[in-house]
Amino acid sequence: MTRKWRFEILLLLLVIFENPDRAPAQANPSKKLPSVVILATGGTIAGAAPTGTQASYTSGAVTIDAMLAAVPGIKDIANIKGEQISNVGSQDMTFEIMLTLAKRINVLLSQNDVDGIVVTHGTDTMEETAFFLNLVVKSEKPVVLVGSMRPSTALSADGPLNLFNAVGVAVDPNAKGRGVLVVMNDWIHGAHSLTKTSTTAVQTFMSPLRGLVGICNYGKNDFFNTPPWKHTTGSEFDIAGISRMPRVDILYVYADMSPDLIDASTANGAKGIVIAGVGNGNMNKASLEAAERAVKKGVVVVRSSRVATGSVGRNVEVNDDEMNFVASDELNPQKARILLALALLKPRSTSEIQNLFYIY
Ligand code: GLU
Repeated sequence: MTRKWRFEILLLLLVIFENPDRAPAQANPSKKLPSVVILATGGTIAGAAPTGTQASYTSGAVTIDAMLAAVPGIKDIANIKGEQISNVGSQDMTFEIMLTLAKRINVLLSQNDVDGIVVTHGTDTMEETAFFLNLVVKSEKPVVLVGSMRPSTALSADGPLNLFNAVGVAVDPNAKGRGVLVVMNDWIHGAHSLTKTSTTAVQTFMSPLRGLVGICNYGKNDFFNTPPWKHTTGSEFDIAGISRMPRVDILYVYADMSPDLIDASTANGAKGIVIAGVGNGNMNKASLEAAERAVKKGVVVVRSSRVATGSVGRNVEVNDDEMNFVASDELNPQKARILLALALLKPRSTSEIQNLFYIY
């Protein structure tokens, strides 16, 4: 080693010693890093296929440690612990798993040594779990859901960078107080407004009505939006003593819809029905009559829409006041179902439930 090199190395060590903030991330003592717990539930992010170019794969085949091993640098931005909550493709997500997940998050976030949570999740029902958590988590600390569209074994797998970015958001103090977030493909979405829009594209999640909460770039984040609805610490919903959620069905409307589907839902024990209506939450006359029959039997009927964007307004083409229906406002059918199920945990009038759809 030449004298010049020796001098430069000595100088670098002195700079780091004098000002630890300027040291490279790897040189930070690990106790100074924020702590994140990754709760794995399954999905494509943990999926594996026999080859890198195969469309078919098995969801939830990869453990959390293997996922982390594929993300260089992730341990330089956070101390990470992992727990497996479930290992399912998110088409098999249930209220039971959501309740287990939410309760575990509430325990972890009440601890001083946990700064944020990342939930790995399949994308199919990610918006439902994100919205559920948005309503029942009791902490301001960041909770970030992340997934991928390509399995971990695919060419250009999107999971590793998504996971890196999700941890980057979970440790960011600016993420606090914005409700539960979803990070996919460099975008940060709020739980209320995002929806899956493509069956296969990596840019599948959009927030069509309200736009993004922010963007992320290799662990650096830019937040420019705070969702205006009540969530987490401002939410009245408490699942502490709850082990079962009420049955709420979603019925999809189409030209010439068969009204007996609504009757069947009521007969099979639904406590609530969400109508994925045409246009502004509409349905044919025969189905309107069936929905009125359901209301008379004590079922709460919420009109949402099968249309990808726009809100469903009260008393527009349907007289909600007269028929005692609820309009979903901006919630799509799958999120209206989550809110309605939580609303039905205690007795509430139709107008009280309507109000929940305006504020959550
Ligand atoms: N059906 C899978 C799931 O939701 C695939 C979608 C994904 O994870 O991207 O878990």
